[in-house]
Amino acid sequence: MRATANWPDEQSAGGFHCHADFELDRFEPLWKQMAVLQEDITRELRIAPASEPIHLFLFERKGTYEEYLKLHFRDVPYRRALFIKERGPGMVFAFLNNDFETDVRHESTHALLHASLPVVPLWLDEGLAEYFEMPASERAHGSPHLSTVIWAARFGQTPDLAKLEQIGSLSKMGATQYRHAWAWVHFMLLGPAEAHDELISYLAAIQSLTPPGVLSDRLRQRIPDLDERFREHFRNWK
Ligand SMILES: [Zn+2]
Repeated sequence: MRATANWPDEQSAGGFHCHADFELDRFEPLWKQMAVLQEDITRELRIAPASEPIHLFLFERKGTYEEYLKLHFRDVPYRRALFIKERGPGMVFAFLNNDFETDVRHESTHALLHASLPVVPLWLDEGLAEYFEMPASERAHGSPHLSTVIWAARFGQTPDLAKLEQIGSLSKMGATQYRHAWAWVHFMLLGPAEAHDELISYLAAIQSLTPPGVLSDRLRQRIPDLDERFREHFRNWK
C-alpha cells in the first residue's frame, strides 16, 4: 500500500479505511452510512462480505486529487471519482464537490463488489453502483433516474438487457446505459421475488467460480414475460 502514512486525517468506517487531507468529521453521517452500506450490499445480494479492507483517499481540492492520480496512476483516464484495484486491496479516490457523498458511495459500491466477487459484469457493476450510491432511505424512490424510467415504461419501453450485457468498456456506457442498468437493478432488487432470486443465484455462481451463464437468459427462463413484468414494476411503482 503506497502513501497511506501521514495523511492529515484518518478514520475507519466498517471495512473502509479513510485517508483525507481534510477533517473527516465534517462528513460524519456519511461514514456512519458507509459502515451500513457494506451490510446492505451483502444482505441484499447475499454475497460474502468483502474479504479485505478498502482504502478511501479523499481530497479537499480537485487540483490535489488530479496531481495525486497523475503521480501514482499515470495511465488511468481522468474521472471525477475513481475505484482502482490493481494487485492489492481496492482503492477509492474522490474530491470534495457537490456530489462528493454520492461519488464516495458509488465508487465504494464498486470496491465492495470487487472485494467479494472475482468478476462483475460491467453493466451490472454500474447498475448496482448507481443503486447503492443513494442514501438507503432514497434508493427505492429517490433516484434521479426513476421518473424517466417510469415514463418510458408507461410508453411501453423496456431497456434492452441483452444489449447492456454486451458492453465491454466503460467508454460505451453513457447516461442512457447507466439509467438502463440502474433500472434493471431496481427491478431485480425491488420487483418480483423470482427476479431477485435469479440475481442472487447468478452472483452466487460467480462467487463460487461456476460459469454463471447470461443473466438476461436466466431471467427470461424464470420469467417468460420479463419485459412486460419490468414495465409493470415501474408503471405501478410508488
Ligand atoms: Zn461506476
